[in-house]
Amino acid sequence: MTGFALSHSRRALLQQGGALALLLSGVSVAHGMAGGAAIVAVRIWPAEDYTRVTLESNAPLQATHEMIGAPPRLAVDIHGLELDAALRELVAKVRPDDPNIAGIRVGQNAPDVVRLVIDLKRDIQPQVFSLTPVAAYQYRLVFDLYPAHPVDPLAALIAQRLGNGAGASANNPEAATVPGTTASGDALGDWIARQEQGQKRGGATTPANPVGPRSGGAPSIGRSSAQRLIIVAIDPGHGGEDPGATGPAGTHEKDIVIRIAKKLRDRIDASRVDGNPMRAFLTRDSDFFVPLATRVAKARRVGASLFVSVHADAFTTPEARGAGVFALSQHGASSAAARWLADNENQSDRIGGVYLGGERDALLQSALFDMSTTMQIRHSIKLGDALLHQIGGIEHLHSGNVERAGFAVLKAPDIPSVLVETAFISNPDEEMRLRTEAYQNAMADALIDGIQQYFAVNPPLARSPTA
Ligand SMILES: [Zn+2]
Repeated sequence: MTGFALSHSRRALLQQGGALALLLSGVSVAHGMAGGAAIVAVRIWPAEDYTRVTLESNAPLQATHEMIGAPPRLAVDIHGLELDAALRELVAKVRPDDPNIAGIRVGQNAPDVVRLVIDLKRDIQPQVFSLTPVAAYQYRLVFDLYPAHPVDPLAALIAQRLGNGAGASANNPEAATVPGTTASGDALGDWIARQEQGQKRGGATTPANPVGPRSGGAPSIGRSSAQRLIIVAIDPGHGGEDPGATGPAGTHEKDIVIRIAKKLRDRIDASRVDGNPMRAFLTRDSDFFVPLATRVAKARRVGASLFVSVHADAFTTPEARGAGVFALSQHGASSAAARWLADNENQSDRIGGVYLGGERDALLQSALFDMSTTMQIRHSIKLGDALLHQIGGIEHLHSGNVERAGFAVLKAPDIPSVLVETAFISNPDEEMRLRTEAYQNAMADALIDGIQQYFAVNPPLARSPTA
């Protein structure tokens, strides 16, 4: 086995670098190959949060970059590379509706230097970093183009509620920032209040601030003012560079879970808890990668009362089937399968690719982890039980109990959080079911019913968005 591998790789080396390379040391061989790096794929993932450009290659790429202003653009020099057809594809892959990129130009700047100029639609703070091979990927050079004025999740939620997403668009960057304070310190609540005032106008008198108490106090103005908004964070797993699990017919988990998440969003937005309107917040609403800690941070930012991460993972055997619900464990997993799934899920950041050098991310990590409380876990299990009760009506369950393991995405210290495996995409029958509207609708129905069942016994606590 080893002998075969060795002779195979030697043959490849001989073909690539010639016999001379073999006479040199291992280091020199590697170096020689880097000089001949070739692009194997290029990808662009546009999103309001940030746009990612990925260059995947068969050897590490060395790059330098600089931001140039007015009009803003990012110039990148990649050394040891020749311009080829794969790289030229990047130019045509820019979408007109990309919120961040206006266009990309490529050229051979020097015999072994390719220059990439990314023309930008707004001021950008780039994160440029390399990733070593993981999962199906070879080496990746990544440009994450973050807006200098980031989209606030709360503003994004308001924009979603406005129904067109235009509130946080590149054409209207002002709308993408929530003012530090509003009359009630609650931008989303204020917006909902205005909506409902509009509906009630002409009828009963409406108070100026019908959103009600922010921290559990008694309603200050009239009975109709006691409303507050119940936010449920829905977290469609994976996205962008991280496809999640892939079924035998080629279905990607990330595509299925966002469809179920959007169906659940519609149901949540049409629901009330004890007269209070519910609103869904999606941690991603399109196909881009969101790091695990960012998902948690977003849910906290919007003051979510619950966090439901939606998945459809693979298992090691195609026979594995059924749905399951998972909560966080701080001390070991409830079963080997739960541990396996958590380990698998926690790989998402490696596959999706996270820039580890940033202050922002270091802060995020340190703020999040090891803060979870037993109270959070207790409520997560109650929520999980309610969801299992409903899901059991439509799908075989691998366990009648909420299983527990160290899922990074469930570590919001103050939000009951569960991860729902909607089925195993690795099972050929379940892959086909997952693709059907009927199953996606049935799952969304079960999830909203479970959420309602949980809230009926455990009324949501008043929450404020975090700053
Ligand atoms: Zn997953």
